[in-house]
Amino acid sequence: MGFSKKVSSLKESATLQAAAKAKALKDQGVKVLNLSIGEPDFSTPKSIQNAAIKAIDNGASSFYTPATGLPELKQAIIDRTREDYGVTYQMNEVFVGSGAKFVLYALFQTLLNPGDEVIIPTPYWVSYSAQVELADGTPVFVETTQDNHYRVTVEELEQARTLKTQAIILNSPSNPTGSIYTAEELKKIGEWAASNNIYIIADDIYAKLVYNGNVFTSIVSLSDEIKQQTIVVNGVSKTYSMTGWRIGYALCQPEIVSQVSKVMSQSTGNPAAVSQYAAIEALSGSQAIVEEMRQTFETRLNDIFPIVQEIPGVRVEKPQGAFYLYLDIKETLDMCGYDNVTNWVNDLLEEAHVAVVTGEAFGTSHHVRMSYATDMDTLTQAIRQINEFIDSKRI
Ligand code: PMP
Ligand code: GLU
Repeated sequence: MGFSKKVSSLKESATLQAAAKAKALKDQGVKVLNLSIGEPDFSTPKSIQNAAIKAIDNGASSFYTPATGLPELKQAIIDRTREDYGVTYQMNEVFVGSGAKFVLYALFQTLLNPGDEVIIPTPYWVSYSAQVELADGTPVFVETTQDNHYRVTVEELEQARTLKTQAIILNSPSNPTGSIYTAEELKKIGEWAASNNIYIIADDIYAKLVYNGNVFTSIVSLSDEIKQQTIVVNGVSKTYSMTGWRIGYALCQPEIVSQVSKVMSQSTGNPAAVSQYAAIEALSGSQAIVEEMRQTFETRLNDIFPIVQEIPGVRVEKPQGAFYLYLDIKETLDMCGYDNVTNWVNDLLEEAHVAVVTGEAFGTSHHVRMSYATDMDTLTQAIRQINEFIDSKRI
């Protein structure tokens, strides 16, 4: 008995693992303040839930759907994208999957041959590198720093490019840093990718969660040439507080959809029908709920940010979007006598009962990620306990 080499070297998703650890401690009766997982803390809006209930009641959700999603859902995605991005896609340029996470997984399975390289700017969302490796690809990391607002430049990309570069992943607003690329930056990167025939995978999952007058630009809105080169990945999880429903989607060239469709039809079959009906309502119903949730996150960010800045030793830039704070705690670690951030994070959970995610999961060695998709009482109490933890460790 044995296991595949791939799975033996695969790590569990650090975000899910951190959340599971926090939950295990909670189940033992400990009051844990959980700032680990990135998911909105609101219930899915009633109108969306009701659409799902209706689909169950009338039997519509009883059956398999096409592998790449219901035509009505594809139409809703096209309409929403046209309204939000001002860009038009056709029905054969859309596919739906079981969460944006699986959409990305299916894309890497579809696009990569062994040894193909995918450029991933660090810090990056945990699953990108693991998914590239699962598809026998090679992640090529390009470091970004707080001093350059966690945004990669064409010059840096050009240095990382080889003949094997197949794709670049752009995640704006970013998980974990919350930084957003400007239209000018995106245009330069888009033109660079197009001229080198490199796919751009634009993970736009946080596009609607943008704060304090910052602006999201969709890279596909910048030119036809860039649009042709790009695969937009999006989903309903974050925008509509629907993480549990597992619906994500992509917009890209029809040839890619036809190839991905084979992966879908041989794996998930189709995303859960009931969730697809819920997603139709989310995308085509009133969008006022999205703005309400966005405002709540914005208020929390503005209230919590000054307090987070005061945590001893912390350097942090105010995020422009998403719902995470990415703290550089290099000085804090020195203060506390730690040379490893993951040990600090583990002790913070064990001793101070606050769950955050180690920066090592995002490809950096002295950061932690804090999600502010939780209520203000939890957030302020968590920061109090972090400060006490640091005080207790000071050497
Ligand atoms: N991309 C990024 C950057 C994310 O943070 C997430 C959240 N898990 C996803 C993709 C996947 O989202 P989901 O699978 O819930 O649609
Ligand atoms: N995207 C969220 C996070 O980063 C959800 C967990 C996950 O899918 O990794 O926390």
